[in-house]
Amino acid sequence: MEKIHVKTPLVEMDGDEMTRIIWQMIKDELLTPYLDMPTVYFDLGLKHRDATDDQVTFDAARATADYGVAVKCATITPNQDRVVEYGLKKAWPSPNGTIRGILDGTVFRAPIIVRNIHPMLRTWRKPIIIGRHAYGDVYRNQEYKVPGPGKAELVFTPADGGEPVRLTIHDFQGPGVIQGIHNTEKSIRSFARACIQFAINQKMPLWFSTKDTISKTYHAFFRDIFQEEVNAHKAAMDAAGVEYFYTLIDDAVARVIRHEGGFLWACMNYDGDVMSDMLATGFGSLALMTSVLVNPAGIMEFEAAHGTVQRHYYAHLRGEKTSTNSTASIFAWTGALARRGELDGTPEVESFARKLEAAVIETIEGGEMTKDLTLLCDPPVDHYLTTEGFIHAVRAKFDAKMA
Ligand code: NAP
Ligand code: MG
Repeated sequence: MEKIHVKTPLVEMDGDEMTRIIWQMIKDELLTPYLDMPTVYFDLGLKHRDATDDQVTFDAARATADYGVAVKCATITPNQDRVVEYGLKKAWPSPNGTIRGILDGTVFRAPIIVRNIHPMLRTWRKPIIIGRHAYGDVYRNQEYKVPGPGKAELVFTPADGGEPVRLTIHDFQGPGVIQGIHNTEKSIRSFARACIQFAINQKMPLWFSTKDTISKTYHAFFRDIFQEEVNAHKAAMDAAGVEYFYTLIDDAVARVIRHEGGFLWACMNYDGDVMSDMLATGFGSLALMTSVLVNPAGIMEFEAAHGTVQRHYYAHLRGEKTSTNSTASIFAWTGALARRGELDGTPEVESFARKLEAAVIETIEGGEMTKDLTLLCDPPVDHYLTTEGFIHAVRAKFDAKMA
């Protein structure tokens, strides 16, 4: 069989532990036998990040900006234990944080829907994707524990020498607590643009929610910037059939619970933090959750939402059989390939990616799955596959499709 040619190289970021093992298996079994696929490879494995003083992470992020599409394996964000385990020079920052900062991107988490793995809620039939604004608000706050009576004020001092603006927060009669938070127009605008880009790309309705009835300046600022960006992108949104829906956060939560899904929910930072964990659990499994970083210009980096599955890796190192689910990692590759195909104008690459996704879903729906899913599966199955066994089963299904 002639291999399908991928025109522009994908930026590939390798990672750590069990996901690094899976990464190689996916390439060997499911990609290179079918694709002539050039990649620009960066080893983001912790040892190599340490050896390069984390330069490799910066290089990978810049290459992503140059090429437009990247696929990333899960990586360790080192804590003190990892510094000792790997003999690191220091606890390097989270690669995802570094990449997100350089690309000025927003992270979208999307569940993979499989018919025999049921969401906790019967109403959910299609993915509900969360876009979380990952800058500011309570995550960059200034806090103070008020010891006793006194006046708390908000003071803004203009850089141009103008008169400071003072607002009373509260006249304290006794002890209490205060907090100062901020956001920037630039960051909110980037977030709105990334959400609009993603909604257009996925041809999905876009929801946005705040509490602007209570926060008539802060939350209303978010609402207004979103609306401005939606107006500015109206033609492209209309062309893709993307509708914009704005509502209060509490109303949005109530609607999400009753909705069948199939939309993008843009969330302020704290709402996104809380709601993404609610949705991940509600849809069933972290191993069926993908994640994509999108920047305002449409640059995309695809990965699995889960980590490096450390516990399974140690079992693997002890020579034990593992049953690690590679679904989200496979979908990271197919997401990136489909996007690459779309940008390159190579429908055969897009179609390859969609067929491989279908093979994965049909494999699981046919009752062949890893251990994590057997606990959630209905109708129940009486056996599960190893890490390799699952990838072999996907390959068999895929070969049948391609024949
Ligand atoms: P994790 O790797 O997501 O795994 C937590 C647990 O979830 C696993 O022990 C396993 O449960 C289950 N699980 C997750 N993915 C699975 C899969 N594909 N197949 C089967 N089961 C799966 O989280 P962690 O153990 O807290 O973190 C490990 C490392 O990952 C950390 O060093 C962290 O820094 C890193 N991390 C990286 C990213 C990223 O690169 N995006 C994200 C999160 C965490 P059982 O053990 O019960 O089987
Ligand atoms: Mg959270």
